[in-house]
Amino acid sequence: MPHIDSDIKLDFKDVLLRPKRSTLKSRSEVDLTRSFSFRNSKQMYTGIPIIAANMDTVGTFEMAKVLCKFSLFTAIHKHYSLQQWKEFASQNPECLEHLAASSGTGSSDFEQLEQILEAIPQVKYICLDVANGYSEHFVEFVKDVRKRFPEHTIMAGNVVTGEMVEELILSGADIIKVGIGPGKLLYWEPRATAPVAHAPGALHCSRDVTFFSGSVCTTRKKTGVGYPQLSAVMECADAAHGLKGHIISDGGCSCPGDVAKAFGAGADFVMLGGMLAGHSESGGELIERDGRKYKLFYGMSSEMAMKKYAGGVAEYRASEGKTVAVPFKGDVEHTVRDILGGLRSTCTYVGAAKLKELSRRTTFIRVTQQVNPIFNDES
Ligand code: 5GP
Repeated sequence: MPHIDSDIKLDFKDVLLRPKRSTLKSRSEVDLTRSFSFRNSKQMYTGIPIIAANMDTVGTFEMAKVLCKFSLFTAIHKHYSLQQWKEFASQNPECLEHLAASSGTGSSDFEQLEQILEAIPQVKYICLDVANGYSEHFVEFVKDVRKRFPEHTIMAGNVVTGEMVEELILSGADIIKVGIGPGKLLYWEPRATAPVAHAPGALHCSRDVTFFSGSVCTTRKKTGVGYPQLSAVMECADAAHGLKGHIISDGGCSCPGDVAKAFGAGADFVMLGGMLAGHSESGGELIERDGRKYKLFYGMSSEMAMKKYAGGVAEYRASEGKTVAVPFKGDVEHTVRDILGGLRSTCTYVGAAKLKELSRRTTFIRVTQQVNPIFNDES
């Protein structure tokens, strides 16, 4: 008989962080930098642990150039050629410590990854990304990559449960990507660049953009598979930390508060797709409709991406991503400042002088409503 797990599992929208007495006077006192030492590669990391997703609309070299100035990280998508990598590396050597080269499990992907890592030894991170990190084939692949690159830090995923986090860490991965289908039907509009007119006083998590229809991941709809992201992060962080491994909360963040909740839940890194899409530095075509500018943002397994790179959607699979047009948000620098400002503020509210202390100072309160809906139909 099928089993029903009746423990309550929560998403970012189901909780808020409870404020705590604090001695911090200003958010400028908060240090968002973290240092980690990785279990298998034995390498050290120092930076602000927010990662641009390895999607070709987000993980671009242009994005990496800006994010590295803030000590943020970029998982570069897998579709750049070796030549493009070499050019970027020669012009931006200071950024190389803040980026990863990505690969799926296909042999052509992997050959290309080998060439990149051989040509540019300063790239020390590998992002191994498959939609379903539960396959035995993927575990074997992680083991092979670990053997081939004993000193590179390996990110691998995606999974959502503790036992698979452990298996991947024991197979040689250092940082596990956690998240299956957490994209939400919300759109976050950064304050500094607000291109969309909406009611005065409306909060920044808003849904008032008609030409926008949600995040680009459709796995939950197509397959019925998924796990509420906040609970996935809490459970997977616990499993990883028990083995001295690390996790990335990947997907589902729609506003800076969600990034703070992911860190509060125990994520070591937070990976963003949609929140970093739609900027000058993002990939995706710029289009205009009714006098307003939009940028296309599509899932890596959307029909759009498959047509672009694989000559179409293979017959045996449905596309598990879609294409949306997000309002053009200008330069990503403003969005980054907004996210970091929000995160510093969270730390001030709960009395964490460092990002490292945030999860220890976190008490989540379950809520039925996130924001005052008076100017906004979001609940
Ligand atoms: P977001 O921050 O937009 O909610 O989520 C970004 C994450 O969505 C990515 O890092 C990746 O894990 C996932 N993703 C990217 N493309 C696709 C896709 O086509 N289908 C699905 N199911 N997930 C995707």
